[in-house]
Amino acid sequence: MCQNSARGSLVGMLKSLRVCKTIAEIRDVVKELRRSGPVALVPTMGYFHEGHLTLMREARRRFPSVVVSIFVNPLQFGPQEDFKTYPRNLERDLALARETGVAAVFAPEVEEMYPGSVLTCVDVERLSAVLCGCTRPGHFRGVATVVTKLFNIIRPDAAFFGQKDAQQLQVIRRLVRDLNFDIEIVAVPTVREPDGLAMSSRNVYLSPEERRAAVVLYRSLVAARERILAGESDLAAVEEQLAADIAAEPLAVLEYAAILALPDLTPPTDEDRELLLAVAARFGRARLIDNVTVWRE
Ligand code: AMP
Repeated sequence: MCQNSARGSLVGMLKSLRVCKTIAEIRDVVKELRRSGPVALVPTMGYFHEGHLTLMREARRRFPSVVVSIFVNPLQFGPQEDFKTYPRNLERDLALARETGVAAVFAPEVEEMYPGSVLTCVDVERLSAVLCGCTRPGHFRGVATVVTKLFNIIRPDAAFFGQKDAQQLQVIRRLVRDLNFDIEIVAVPTVREPDGLAMSSRNVYLSPEERRAAVVLYRSLVAARERILAGESDLAAVEEQLAADIAAEPLAVLEYAAILALPDLTPPTDEDRELLLAVAARFGRARLIDNVTVWRE
């Protein structure tokens, strides 16, 4: 049974948020929603911040019905990673989703999504092998597999993803193209704290000192972008400086700083116009990523 979070008044009923734990329930709800027009999906791992809420609002602005999935997907975490400790707060997430005008939340347990062992996975080759793919082997296979499952379960007309996870976005775009999903992929710009730090559920891991230090990621990316916009064509030198700027922060342990061509995430040539500047670093137990894009004339 779907729980109705607002019972009673007519207004409450009209604004009610449907919360589904099983695939059968969410399929029934989506069937009903589709009667009033197209349905958009916002896949998340929960513990909402303003970045998630912006995706939902954007989806809501463009589509009559929005479904949000909340699922911390074990398949995309490595054995030494933070699957068990990843922050979770379903009650708070449901209240925020409701306020944002979301029609339904799909929040399955791991058993519902993966009953027994997983024998079928989706691999988006090459795009999954660079940047985060080097230090998180299997991560994008986990992402591509769960997103494929969510697309098949909900069959949305559109799905909204954050530019914050730029590599994930390219992986999903390619997945949709290669497997012929009839789903519009909408990218939403990164939502940042006032000092520039990209919002992330993992920011809660930061101590006050690490939180202050973490702004180095965005500052260094902006400085690198400015050099390119000012006409610097030696991208290896820009990349080196980007890495040095982050490594100069004592609380940062740099994982990578890279400049790649979009959309294929290949080493840029002089002909490539759209570039991705992407970084990953650890601050204490928080592994943070960030990126900016540059259009070169
Ligand atoms: P997550 O719950 O971290 O898996 O993120 C769910 C979705 O929200 C993904 O499409 C992310 O790219 C997006 N997202 C996360 N943080 C931000 C942010 N700061 N700005 C915009 N989108 C974000």
